[in-house]
Amino acid sequence: MSGLKRSTSGPGERLAALRGTTPQSPHDARAIAALAANPGCARRALLDGAGIDKDAAARHLGFPAPFGQSPFAITRGNAFESLVKADGCAELLRMLREVLGLPIAEVAYHDVENVGAHLRHAHTRALIDRAAAGAPGAGTLYDHPLLSLEIAGSTAYLEPDVVAFQLGGRFHIVEIKSFAVIDGQADPSAVAAAARQAAVYVLALRALLEELGHDPLKVSHDVVLVCPENFANRPVATLVDVRRQLAVLRRQLTRMTALDRLLDDLPEDLTFDLAPGEDGLPTRPPAELADALRRTDARYAPDCLSACDLCFFCRDEARQEGASDLLGRQVRDELGGVASVEEALGLADGTRHPAEGQEEIARLLRNAERLRKECLA
Ligand code: SF4
Repeated sequence: MSGLKRSTSGPGERLAALRGTTPQSPHDARAIAALAANPGCARRALLDGAGIDKDAAARHLGFPAPFGQSPFAITRGNAFESLVKADGCAELLRMLREVLGLPIAEVAYHDVENVGAHLRHAHTRALIDRAAAGAPGAGTLYDHPLLSLEIAGSTAYLEPDVVAFQLGGRFHIVEIKSFAVIDGQADPSAVAAAARQAAVYVLALRALLEELGHDPLKVSHDVVLVCPENFANRPVATLVDVRRQLAVLRRQLTRMTALDRLLDDLPEDLTFDLAPGEDGLPTRPPAELADALRRTDARYAPDCLSACDLCFFCRDEARQEGASDLLGRQVRDELGGVASVEEALGLADGTRHPAEGQEEIARLLRNAERLRKECLA
């Protein structure tokens, strides 16, 4: 990024200017969770901080993302959730007894969804407050609690299809997912995504406890993941430690609330405005929007393909630049400072002289190239 003019406006005004006339896109748990998937990407931090609808932007750019569940998957997910929660969560309670090893004699179940939407947040607060204080009859299972989290100065409301379970004033988030666990193994990327999402709820519930004057660590970092086992629909529960996801999320959220530094590096006239017309569809020339996005630093990695709406756009950009990012986060980190595949190959075969600071990686690449040739010979 060159020829930048430093902005004299505050961060709030700058974010509003980045959004332009496009309505602010609300954050949901999936979007917040995805932040943890690529914490080093300035482009994503800026777009999310400004509340840009990345899905709409990607579609307008001609790079629609492959997200969204099929109607079949949604129906299957809903049926599985109903099974787990049937009869006042009887099946869930059985699993909680097993997985947490707790003597749960009886359960008081509150479905917060039955309360009018506008009252749900207040009702959730009151229930959680009483439970954390150990008030008699405060309940054990809370279905559909309405939680909130501060994201870049605005409040995101999270409506999890989740249950918060408390016993003796200690809370666990229960996440119900319909991907199968087969022979004790589940798709690692699905488990990672579920863990990131559950971490958002842990963070939101901890924030609520803190706000109410209780110890936030009463919310356990072990979340209970409930999935169908093998090819039957029988639910099985597993404890998942989300401490790492919590640390990444916290770091990314702090970074979003401190976007000033990233905004400082942007040209003053930069905007991601989609300029929606009367029908709500973007009217801004796609090439112009693409140019605006290219003025922000992206950190593409193959993992973006499962976590960010802009993945195909950023992958195309990385391909055109021949970026080493395409090789995955681990390779990129090991190549630290070598931005393109061409540069890495040049250093490896000695046709390129290492720049200052690249001597060590150049030596390693030359060794790797020598070993490769020996193996091939
Ligand atoms: S897809 Fe692009 S904007 Fe999204 S996280 Fe990856 S590099 Fe950043």
